[in-house]
Amino acid sequence: MQHTHDVIVIGGGPSGSTAANLVRQAGFSVLVLEREVFPRFHIGESLLPCDLEVFRRLGVDPETEGFLHKAGAEFLDERIGGHTVYTFAEGMPGSPDHAYQVERSKFDHWLLNRAEAVGCEVHQGERMLEATPEALGVRVRTDRAEYTARYLIDATGQDAVLGRRAKTTRQLVDFGLAATFAHYEQLDPEIDRELCVTARGNIKVLFVDEGWHWAIPLGGGKISIGLVTRKKGIDSTWLDQYIAASPFLSRVTRGAVRPRKPGLLSSFSFHNEKQHGSRWGCTGDAACFLDPVFSSGVSLGMVGATHLADTVVLALREGREADPALLDAHATHVAHGYNVFATLVHSFYHSTLLHSLFFAEDPDMDLKRGLTTVLAGDLWRDDNPFQAKLMASKRRRVELVPQLHAAVAPSPI
Ligand SMILES: Cc1cc2nc3c(=O)[nH]c(=O)nc-3n(C[C@H](O)[C@H](O)[C@H](O)COP(=O)(O)OP(=O)(O)OC[C@H]3O[C@@H](n4cnc5c(N)ncnc54)[C@H](O)[C@@H]3O)c2cc1C
Repeated sequence: MQHTHDVIVIGGGPSGSTAANLVRQAGFSVLVLEREVFPRFHIGESLLPCDLEVFRRLGVDPETEGFLHKAGAEFLDERIGGHTVYTFAEGMPGSPDHAYQVERSKFDHWLLNRAEAVGCEVHQGERMLEATPEALGVRVRTDRAEYTARYLIDATGQDAVLGRRAKTTRQLVDFGLAATFAHYEQLDPEIDRELCVTARGNIKVLFVDEGWHWAIPLGGGKISIGLVTRKKGIDSTWLDQYIAASPFLSRVTRGAVRPRKPGLLSSFSFHNEKQHGSRWGCTGDAACFLDPVFSSGVSLGMVGATHLADTVVLALREGREADPALLDAHATHVAHGYNVFATLVHSFYHSTLLHSLFFAEDPDMDLKRGLTTVLAGDLWRDDNPFQAKLMASKRRRVELVPQLHAAVAPSPI
């Protein structure tokens, strides 16, 4: 089979741009197919510090783009007057110390432009219709043309085109079930300063009876506010009602403008149980999306895409890309990160562990430092007492990929 490209990446979101950029930097030809024309709206603005190393490898610097510094996360429970601050710089030694809040239309476009700048061929407004892995290569048919490649990366986000067609995606029903959200603009300049400067760009997570809220300052007088619930049948009028019921949210949005009516999403938590095969692999949301609560989506996607790209590059160099087991070790590595966050998310919804730790009068500082490190996405270390405690409980532990869990054994406390 004649190949038009070495690698085809479907989807130009953060995971696809990351994988494409790194494979191209290693010298292979890459085609990125993105059905939308960027910039386009996407929800998911709060990043984690584990992205810093990925940015370095992609050759981008978020500082130059003016993205808002995020020092950490704040948890509030207005029902009991609870408020706590988790600052990444107070995590365990060696853990990265800050992250960014990003408007996704700008962020995703910036990363896709970078992939193009390092030499990827990027086709926007072109939708993949069919992808067929064969013995000698992969055939991809779009609404415009046909291509062939040595390897295919599915980074199609919630569409998870390969997984959904093969019916290998499994809904995760124990997490958030639905969300409604909106951007608010023209915040009072004093409020904007309070959120971005005094509160150092922190995300706020507010516990409410039906679930929780996020409040993500974006700088320039903008904020993203959302409500995630475990209830079915949410509608977009809930957002106004919940904001009105929260002293904090009603204060920060007073006088602000909401340019669009709130968005609605449901059934977003799923795990793709068949993430790779001969000549293909999935990354980012196309492989798994847990829940928005700890802002792990983009970061696990980009970290995972980096690891996948490194594995695929080695295989392309050695002509091993048709090996159906090529991504086995990669999957083990990435599953560890998803399992830790899945367990944390499960504890958030189904136990008092995190609520007690967040609002304890005298919290155990070692556990707080360890939780801060997990919240930073610094998950692949074996000296974190909080992570060890979290994962040691069989009752609490969530294993999306059970047989792989033992591959990374955190030390007991
Ligand atoms: C309510 C909610 C709130 C969230 N909040 C956060 C947050 O604060 N922080 C965070 O990190 N994450 C958050 N997330 C998750 C985050 O949005 C995703 O994890 C992230 O966008 C995944 O990136 P990705 O590149 O894998 O997929 P995406 O960003 O979704 O990119 C996939 C791309 O593939 C393209 N595509 C799809 N099908 C095709 C096709 N057939 N052909 C060509 N192109 C195609 C799409 O147009 C899209 O651009 C949130 C998610 C939800 C549901």
